Amino acid sequence: MKKLFVFFLFLSISISAQKVDLSYYLPKNVTYDKSIPTPKEIVGHEVGEWHITHDKLVTYMKALAVSSDRISIETRGTTYEGRPVLLLTITSPENHKNLEKIRQVHMDATDDNSLDVSNNPIVVYQGFSIHGNEPSGSNAALAVAYYLAAADNIDDLLNNTVILFDPSFNPDGLQRFAYWANTNKSKNINPDPNDREYHEVWPRGRTNHYQFDMNRDWLPVQLPESKARIASFHKWLPNILTDHHEMGSNSSFFFQPGIPSRTNPLTPQMNQDLTKEIATYHAKALDKIGSLYYSEESFDDFYYGKGSTFPDINGGIGILFEQASSRGHAQETVNGVLTFPFTIRNQFTAALSTLEAAKGMRVKILKYQQDFYKESRNAAGNKAIVFGDEKDGAKSYHLAEVLKRHQVKIHEIKSDFTSNGKNFKKGFSYVVPMNQKNQLLVKAMFDVRTQFKDSLFYDVSAWTFNHAFGVDYAENISLAKVGKEITDLKMNTGGVSSKSDYGYLMSWNEYYTPKALNAFLQKGLRAKVSMKNFKNGGTSYEYGTIFIPVQNQKLNASDLYQFLNKVAAESHVKITGVSTGLNDGIDLGSNNFSAIKKPKVAMLVGSGIVSYDSGEIWHLFDQRFDMHLTRLDMSYFARVDLSAYTHIIIPSSNIDKASIARLRTWVKNGGVLVGYKNTAKWLASNKMISLEFDIPKIDTIQNISFESKSLNTGAQYIGGAIFEADLDRSHPINFGYKNDKIALFRNSTLFIKADKKSYNNPIKYTSNPLLSGYISKENAKVIKNTVPFKVQKSGRGKVIVFTDNTNFRAFWFGTNKLLMNTIFFGDKM
Ligand SMILES: [Zn+2]
Repeated sequence: MKKLFVFFLFLSISISAQKVDLSYYLPKNVTYDKSIPTPKEIVGHEVGEWHITHDKLVTYMKALAVSSDRISIETRGTTYEGRPVLLLTITSPENHKNLEKIRQVHMDATDDNSLDVSNNPIVVYQGFSIHGNEPSGSNAALAVAYYLAAADNIDDLLNNTVILFDPSFNPDGLQRFAYWANTNKSKNINPDPNDREYHEVWPRGRTNHYQFDMNRDWLPVQLPESKARIASFHKWLPNILTDHHEMGSNSSFFFQPGIPSRTNPLTPQMNQDLTKEIATYHAKALDKIGSLYYSEESFDDFYYGKGSTFPDINGGIGILFEQASSRGHAQETVNGVLTFPFTIRNQFTAALSTLEAAKGMRVKILKYQQDFYKESRNAAGNKAIVFGDEKDGAKSYHLAEVLKRHQVKIHEIKSDFTSNGKNFKKGFSYVVPMNQKNQLLVKAMFDVRTQFKDSLFYDVSAWTFNHAFGVDYAENISLAKVGKEITDLKMNTGGVSSKSDYGYLMSWNEYYTPKALNAFLQKGLRAKVSMKNFKNGGTSYEYGTIFIPVQNQKLNASDLYQFLNKVAAESHVKITGVSTGLNDGIDLGSNNFSAIKKPKVAMLVGSGIVSYDSGEIWHLFDQRFDMHLTRLDMSYFARVDLSAYTHIIIPSSNIDKASIARLRTWVKNGGVLVGYKNTAKWLASNKMISLEFDIPKIDTIQNISFESKSLNTGAQYIGGAIFEADLDRSHPINFGYKNDKIALFRNSTLFIKADKKSYNNPIKYTSNPLLSGYISKENAKVIKNTVPFKVQKSGRGKVIVFTDNTNFRAFWFGTNKLLMNTIFFGDKM
């Protein structure tokens, strides 16, 4: 056994703020097993000396698992960039031998309130740096894992705890940030906040590969990292889950509870009480090392898509930690020079105080979880919810898939039925009985809320899944309508009904039709779109139906059939071979079938462009529809020949004036420009499109003190809410939608006045549009009857704007088609 001694932190910055060894982090008076390698022995540097890269982190965690019988390791999946999503299970060697039994006993207790939990270990899930550029978490994970593997005095802790240890929630983001911080490190660490080291380039390490904030994906579970993590979560139902973050450099250290008035009403009060009791352990530990901290004044537990809130609707307790960020290796702040090792030490300390709390409050917290599920069972009721879309199987399938990831039981419907004016068709609908274990989680997913205790939100105020997926939905369905349980969820198969020598029709309703159409066009095939409804061979076809003639194609009739079949199968769409061009309504040779041009789409990215918004669009094209999207960085945009592109998308942005002339010329020559959110303002002020904005009137402010000033201005912000609009389905922007209403997600306060000509308002907010979420009364007055979409001709091209986000966080399947319609039919609008 080797004894480590506390090392004094060098205060002189000119020498180095980083000269600390492992003992700086570790508790005093503990001996460590010498057979366990220290991080330095494996990765070649001290914790905090350099920013750990993900590959080195993996190497160290694997080395620990090999050398310690307290640790087992598994790879649960891979990120978009192919990095392993690791999980370490840390507990006593004895517990390791009976791990599956321990897990079973733990899970059984949540199903049977009579079982005695007092001898069960508590399950703690510790996760680090879901935002990759908040690195003190993952860097602390090196020291925490070492401590748990090597400390000689923690048998009692390990006997009573199963630790699910997730050293990097966001491997791709951590790697990107470590590269930045290390690349810019000087030998003489320069704490000047203006130094390049503290200013990452676009896209920053916060997000994953497609620039998603993964700490919003715990409920929608659309990203590979989340899929792996949520599977572990439901496998174990941890009692405590911690989420280690960083915040602004001039802060101190935050631990939950957050702002009490902003706790989601579905979360039991006891959850917050226990959080507060756990907090006393953090306070004590941080007092001991002299670190400043605070709680209850910021952050909240409202949106269940965050890591520290998600456990709260699953019988657990989620805890958020926020450490002031040194961002690089040391930075001057209002609290003096903040060194990277100091930030790591606070995270390390909070990780250990969490385990201390888990040990101290074990039985109480286990009992809380057991009671949570008992109460959930008692409140379940004997009804079901149903959702589906009789013309779009894929959207409904993807929503069912989310429920499956959350271990929610879903069933087929017994037979077709109508409820709430909507048809639910077998094979296109799913029913969820509410008398099941995770019914509270289901309630949280479909929650509709328009009244709130507080008017400020850390994140979105609504996420209602049936609106997000754009599916028909009904509640209070009789259990008599519930068919057999779906254990093997599958997407509907696609294909071509029969070979034709005349032509093929594909209705535009299915989610993946853009993927199929794009494949046809890229192959060089000719396709047309119907501008009117018609009937062929007794079947009704709506606006937007795609027609592929057989004659005069690059492929002969039989190759064409083969190719369409392959594409239809890959895209899960149905294509019908027809034998006649004579229709009820427009015939197939009519000019009302308009030729579709092969798109070549570019998107502006880089500094000045909102990276979340551009990442969502990139992901949509690349991952969902297998479509090329050329990303043009603002740094070389001026040098690119734009004439090759049919479409340019500008996500929400503040781009420079110099670009305007080029874009104007390009549009006049036939380009279709699609701008989102702030870009609408920019295009209007540069006279690329004429828009009239409606601005809410804020009355004279009375009775608001200086202290409450920020609360008042914040209340005018739309952090994210859901609004209803009327659709003119004959307009190409709405092709493929079967209902006359649509739910839109908006997080902006741009309100465009409707045009005087009704046909220029194909999407228009209703007179009472709020479906779910928070909006101030001033904004609520203004939004009614305004328009979230506008298109205007300019020369031979078009300028199109959306004030709402049609691609939000990869789970707003319901409005993805709006963007696709601008790509394939933009020239027809
Ligand atoms: Zn964060």
